[in-house]
Amino acid sequence: MKVYLVGHDFLYEMENLVRLFYPCDRIEMIENATGHEDPGQDDGAWLTIAPKDDGTLRYTVKVTLLGQAPCERQDEGPMMDPPAEQERRLGVLLFTVLQALTGQTPAWGIITGVHPVKLLRQKSEEVGLLAAEEFFRDKWLVSDEKIQLMRRVLQVQEPYVALNQPNSCSLYLSVPFCPSRCSYCSFISQAVEGAKKLVEPYVTLLLREIEETAAIARQVGLQIQSVYMGGGTPTTFSASQLTAVIEKVRERFDLSHCVEFTVEAGRPDTVTKEKLQALLNGGVTRISINPQSMHDDVLRAIGRRHTVADTLRAFSLARDMGFDNINMDLIAGLPLDTPEKFRQTLKAIEELSPESVTVHTLALKHAARMMRDEEVRENHRRGETARQMVEDAGRALTRQGYVPYYLYRQSRMAGNLENTGWSRKGKECFYNIITMDEIHTVLSCGAGGVTKLCDPFSTDIKRVFNFKYSYEYVSRFDEILQRKKQIIKGYGTFLHRAGQKNL
Ligand code: SF4
Repeated sequence: MKVYLVGHDFLYEMENLVRLFYPCDRIEMIENATGHEDPGQDDGAWLTIAPKDDGTLRYTVKVTLLGQAPCERQDEGPMMDPPAEQERRLGVLLFTVLQALTGQTPAWGIITGVHPVKLLRQKSEEVGLLAAEEFFRDKWLVSDEKIQLMRRVLQVQEPYVALNQPNSCSLYLSVPFCPSRCSYCSFISQAVEGAKKLVEPYVTLLLREIEETAAIARQVGLQIQSVYMGGGTPTTFSASQLTAVIEKVRERFDLSHCVEFTVEAGRPDTVTKEKLQALLNGGVTRISINPQSMHDDVLRAIGRRHTVADTLRAFSLARDMGFDNINMDLIAGLPLDTPEKFRQTLKAIEELSPESVTVHTLALKHAARMMRDEEVRENHRRGETARQMVEDAGRALTRQGYVPYYLYRQSRMAGNLENTGWSRKGKECFYNIITMDEIHTVLSCGAGGVTKLCDPFSTDIKRVFNFKYSYEYVSRFDEILQRKKQIIKGYGTFLHRAGQKNL
């Protein structure tokens, strides 16, 4: 579809909104359009804001799908509306036109961002929860069902958010290696067989980066509240490599205020007794063992290279060794999976009774190998199957006593749904809450790591990027250390603006 922007530059939001309805299609955004363009053999959308003689603004959205009559809607608003309100009005109009043309009503309305719960928290701090919910329903067209879900999440998060102090932060350690690459993956992770030579130098440099980061955290006055080692698959590291990393964290950071230390042991085929023992010895409090599906044909179809039996073995090994906080990830909308098979997966997970279950919805980014399969793209576009699975999961997990405690969205998710973490009471992952809702600073080490500096005195966020790929991380490590100094500068700015001397 060709999308023409006339009289405004709301490119990013409008593109995301069109993508809600056409997640796998090619969308071409054309700025500074006149409104008279011919899209040729493409569908066309003209999104126009124009001043009127009476001092108001006219909003017009016209969409022409090939072979169909055009669909057009208009609205009017004050000239003095701030840009965010103009963008919202145009977004609502575009949403209603696409809704009429496709018969779909995306449940998140015109919210396309990643952090809806954070938005609801901010809005309810301004106007109270009820008025904030009304705003979400009436102005952003969010469904009652999603508002209820967010309300439940907000309530569960309250005590965790209350733990946050101006000097709080968390530490993220990135391990960008996996045993093989899943076909839906758009992350920078590398299959470890092809990257064997990189792993040892990577670990060595990661240890150095942890040292440097700890020194900066001390200088700035930051206090660690949680540690999360993710990826990738951290348990592609050997037991001794895992021990080295964990010991370095313990040696260099003050963890006296740390409430949680998570390591993703994501791929069950990487889990061994030695590695789990290394995690236990290092004081790791929470692990993740991720089946994604409890059907071998689905796992084969997505290139996971582990079996259901591997998952069962890894889980019972971890339980027997004493892990009392285990998360399991599932994905709704995978190829070859059906609602019936997904219910069987949920049943199998119920029998294991992990402390938390994260239900992801398949998101197909362009980098994913799976995007090349037309049938998967078509299923993804329809999203019906994924929606059914997510609903079944919500019902089953609620019945089993789990509560939703964090959620986030990604672009190009099947059915425009969300990823939701469900947990037994008191076993919520603190890191997931603070990072998804951007409640405090996250210091990141390793390839692909993004340090997010959250101003404790305002809503400002600054980001410091590490190199994405492990080979760049290894070859340009000194540049990463240079970039890390931006943390000191960033906190200097925060303190200066707030008129504070320290955190
Ligand atoms: S385990 Fe996760 S990070 Fe690794 S390839 Fe699969 S989806 Fe990507």
